[in-house]
Amino acid sequence: MGFESQIREALRELEVAGLRRYPKRVSGPQGPEIEIDGRAVICFCSNNYLGLAAHPAICKAAADAVRQEGTGSGASRLITGTMDAHRQAETDLAAFVGAPSAALFSTGYAANLGTIQALVGPGDVVFSDALNHASLIDGCRLSRAEVHVYRHRDPVHLEGLLSRHRGSARRALIVTDSLFSMDGVIAPVADLAALAESFDAGFLVDEAHALGVLGPMGRGVCAAEGIVPDVLVGTLGKAFGVAGAFVAAHDDVITFVRNRARSFVYSTAPPPMVVRAALAALPIVRDADDARATLLGHAARLRSELRQLGFEVPDGSSQILPVLVGENERTMRLSAELLDRGVFVQGIRPPTVPVGTARLRLTPMATHRTEHIDRALDAFQALARQR
Ligand SMILES: *Cc1c(COP(=O)(O)O)cnc(C)c1O
Repeated sequence: MGFESQIREALRELEVAGLRRYPKRVSGPQGPEIEIDGRAVICFCSNNYLGLAAHPAICKAAADAVRQEGTGSGASRLITGTMDAHRQAETDLAAFVGAPSAALFSTGYAANLGTIQALVGPGDVVFSDALNHASLIDGCRLSRAEVHVYRHRDPVHLEGLLSRHRGSARRALIVTDSLFSMDGVIAPVADLAALAESFDAGFLVDEAHALGVLGPMGRGVCAAEGIVPDVLVGTLGKAFGVAGAFVAAHDDVITFVRNRARSFVYSTAPPPMVVRAALAALPIVRDADDARATLLGHAARLRSELRQLGFEVPDGSSQILPVLVGENERTMRLSAELLDRGVFVQGIRPPTVPVGTARLRLTPMATHRTEHIDRALDAFQALARQR
C-alpha cells in the first residue's frame, strides 16, 4: 500500500471512530454572532471571552502599526533584534501580572513547548496535572525530563509523588493550567505553590483561559489567590482577542528562556502589528470589570438553566461550561442540531478530553446580549424535549 493510501486508511479509521473533524467555514469577523456558510449564528464556542477580537481601538492599533512598523519582524529576535513593540509589550505584560520580566511568543502552544523544554531536561523531574492542556503535555515530553502525572487537582496525590520522586533530581517543576480549558474548573494553585515551596520545585501556571476573565482586573487565578508562581504563562489570543503569548517570571528566568527556549530562538518574532494590537488590548482588558461581570453572569444563568432542562453540567464558577454527553457521535449530533437552530456550540471529543467524556463546550461572551442567551436556552430546550 502506498503512503497516501495508508494515510487515507488512517483518516477512514478516524471517521469510523467518530473522531474526524470538519472545521466550519466562517466569513467576517469573530463576535457574538458569526456567519457560517452565509448564515448568521450565535457563537458559543469562542475563547474571545470579552468580545475584543474585532474591537475598533485594537483594530486601529494594528492598522497604525502596519503603517509605521510594517508587517514582518524579519527573523528571530536573536538575529534581527527586539523591536520597540516587543520590548514595550514585555514590560507592560509583566507589570500586568506582577512579575519582573516577560518573554513574548507567537502562540501559547509555542510558549509552553519552549519554556518547559528550556527549564527542565534529562535528570530533572516534572509533575503535571492529569488534565493539563496538550501544549503543556507536549512541552513535558519535549524536555525529556522524567514526567509524573498527578490526579486532576489533587495536591495530596502530588505530595506523594513529590516525596517519592523529587529526591535525587536536579531540578523539579510543577505544571498546571489555572482554569482548565475543557472543564471550566480551577486548579488549587495556593496548595500547589506551597508544595512547590516545601519540595524546592519550580511552579509553572498556564493562565490561558483565566487571563482577562478571572481575578482582580482580569489578572488571573494566581492574582486572585494572592500567589506569584515562578513562571506564569498568559495568552493573547483568547480574552485579549489578538494572538500570541507571554511567559512572565524573574529576570534571570526570562533571560534563560530567551536563550534556551527553542520555539523562541528558532522562530520568527511576533509581527509588530500583532504585538501593538495586544498592547492596545491590555488597558481595555484591565478596565473590563463590567464585561467580566456580564460574562460570568451569562455563564451562571446558562449553568443553572441547562441543569433545570436536565443537562449534565458540573459545578463551576467560570465562563467555561461543559455539557457532558459521553459518546462521540451523539455529541456531534447534538452540536449539529444546535447549529441547525442557529446556535454554534462545538462538540469536544478525545483526545482533547478523556475517552467516554465527549461533551459540548459552551462559552458565552461578554458581548452576548440577553436575547442571545435566551435563544441558546430555547435551542437546548428543544433538544431536551426530543430525548
Ligand atoms: C489555548 C491554550 C494554549 C495555547 O495557546 P495558543 O495561543 O492558542 O497557542 C495553551 N495553554 C492553554 C491552557 C490553552 O487553553
